[in-house]
Amino acid sequence: PSISGVKANSTANSRLYVYEIEGLGQNGEASNLNVPIRRSGNMFLTVPYNRMNQEMKRIAKLGGKIVSIRPLVGDTIENNGSAASTAQSASGDTDRPMTQAKPKEQKKKVPVNIYKPKEPYMGACLSNDELVAEGGIGTVRHLKFDLSEGDMYYLEGQSIGVIPEGEDEKGRPHKLRLYSIASTRHGDDVDDKTVSLCVRQLVYEDPETEETVKGVCSTYLCNMEPGTKVKLTGPVGKEMLLPDDPNANIIMMATGTGIAPFRAYLWRMFKEAERQANPDYRFKGFAWLIFGIPKTPNILYKEELEALQAKYPDNFRITYAISREQKNEEGGRMYIQHRVAEHAEELWNLIQDEKTHTYICGLKGMEDGIDAALAEQASKSDVDWEEYRRAMKKNDRWHVETY
Ligand code: FAD
Repeated sequence: PSISGVKANSTANSRLYVYEIEGLGQNGEASNLNVPIRRSGNMFLTVPYNRMNQEMKRIAKLGGKIVSIRPLVGDTIENNGSAASTAQSASGDTDRPMTQAKPKEQKKKVPVNIYKPKEPYMGACLSNDELVAEGGIGTVRHLKFDLSEGDMYYLEGQSIGVIPEGEDEKGRPHKLRLYSIASTRHGDDVDDKTVSLCVRQLVYEDPETEETVKGVCSTYLCNMEPGTKVKLTGPVGKEMLLPDDPNANIIMMATGTGIAPFRAYLWRMFKEAERQANPDYRFKGFAWLIFGIPKTPNILYKEELEALQAKYPDNFRITYAISREQKNEEGGRMYIQHRVAEHAEELWNLIQDEKTHTYICGLKGMEDGIDAALAEQASKSDVDWEEYRRAMKKNDRWHVETY
């Protein structure tokens, strides 16, 4: 049922947002909007999620400028857990610009390089399972490693380094390769003793010799027998951390193994909640996964993802772009950017909520098409996407890790 991704999200659709508008108060245009004006001349307008775009256009037409957008919860404006103020009486004193999403403390407690290449952690491979179903393209493995000895720990969204056995053609030890962590900080067994990776075996044809070349580290990992001890380093990475706020909305755009960090997020949001593994993190926001893969058998973690969606239809939505099976509007292959373009209005509405964080992970270059689709939508509300995205990035609401 989720292949087309058309499932509506009732939670998001019923939400209300408060626009703070500048530039209409003095000229009498405010009467057109029928909203309270505060002393500064700014006014507030409550807008349902599904009318956000229309209202933006109307305000722009009247010559107004939207200076902030905040979700309205109950009759209060949500303000990142800090003192909330009522919509009617918001004085602006506690207001923050819409792109200012979260405090930075989180970054301080992020573990980095507990193990370095000179002294890596030796972790035994506990399991190595194929993720591509029959008829799919290539090999992608889910590998779990033992962390029960030593000091390694990590957060969702970080990566682990792997140093393959052997030497390169110059006789030097191989360099480390990074892999996004696919498990939550508690590990797949929720015992804080493992880390899991999602590894695609790199196979390509050498353009000169036309020989088939297999990637060193990915082949080493994909062919690994359980029991093998592996040199692990890290963790590294602060780009893809989840916000602490359980009310945040999380848009996830993945291609291929780019699903790895999102699996970790989703397990944290939903699966671990069932096991009460994170008493201080009860996800109440809306998570939307847009997942690009070549064929249905290549949908990594398909059963688990769809089981989550079936169980949490109001909080989790999946949209697939299956390039070799589905067609885009022009009749070509359906890539992730085509799905983003199809859903651009909804995505843009969601993105403007300061509680929304957008994550892109997977193939290098995938962000360009996504950018183009969102830029087109933003321009309909007279917003310069480049500028908007830069502000989001600055405020930790736009996250990209492609390789
Ligand atoms: P190598 O033996 O190192 O070969 C790679 C080299 O082959 C390339 O540098 C290029 O020179 C050449 N090459 C590759 N493709 C072609 C081609 N089509 N034509 C010609 N030459 C080519 N990978 C995952 O599978 N899962 C992950 O979750 C993951 N997460 C990552 C996270 C980060 C932050 C980064 C930076 C990378 C991530 N990677 C991930 C990629 C991973 O680090 C390795 O790059 C990948 O596994 C290939 O390594 P390898 O040793 O197998 O290939």
